[in-house]
Amino acid sequence: MLQEKRLFLFDIDGTVALGDTLFDGSAELFAHIRAIGGRSVFITNNSTKSRRAYVEKFAKWNIETDESDFITASYATCLHLKNAYAGKKVFVLGTRSFVRELREFGIDATTRPEPDVACVVAGFDDELTYQKVMDACEVLQTHSVDFLATNPDLRCPYSFGFIPDCGAICRMISATVDREPMFIGKPDRRIVDLCLAETGFSRAETLVVGDRLYTDILCGVNAGAETCLLLTGEATREDADAEDYHPDYIFENVKKLLGAVKGE
Ligand SMILES: [Mg+2]
Repeated sequence: MLQEKRLFLFDIDGTVALGDTLFDGSAELFAHIRAIGGRSVFITNNSTKSRRAYVEKFAKWNIETDESDFITASYATCLHLKNAYAGKKVFVLGTRSFVRELREFGIDATTRPEPDVACVVAGFDDELTYQKVMDACEVLQTHSVDFLATNPDLRCPYSFGFIPDCGAICRMISATVDREPMFIGKPDRRIVDLCLAETGFSRAETLVVGDRLYTDILCGVNAGAETCLLLTGEATREDADAEDYHPDYIFENVKKLLGAVKGE
């Protein structure tokens, strides 16, 4: 039942906003969730923006948030690495800001193929060079290491269309070393489990809301939470029918979801 939901895990782009434009109904839905004692958390595979940058973006829409309201794929990766690779060296293929974020978490991050590396982690990287790709391939072929990546998205929306996202960068490496990374972002259930642990809400009270089937909806399905597809982004009703997993709810847009949550 939608009226019983209290923890709403929203995707951002294509779901509650598109670029700099907040969708009609989003602010009202967040206010309603607060009024019923619930919580909105934004989970995004976009690893180019920091959590602080999202707080500032939402402030421009007059929506007050703090950093704990945003779980990005890079943040979830930092938490995972901090737990699983304490005291170990991690080779990073990513932006300088991602390397900095990892180091701020106390992770021993290097960008060189050093002999004592325990794990390779790849993220979206708009500073990518062939040398970085070669170094990642060297570590993966000469060391016994784990291979992780922030998010499986193949393409990232851009002014003229799309640019390669983390998933596409990883495909180049996978095709070379014949090995796939484990992706930490959606659809891995870890990111939902993290939100449940941090907020204290139950799985039954949780709704995962998004516009993409293979990341947002599959993430909720993997985590055993109910899901809601909004048709303002990538997927159509036909796409949803064609998959072997299905969202529990489908609405045209966030405004229609607001009406349903209110029981109108
Ligand atoms: Mg989206």
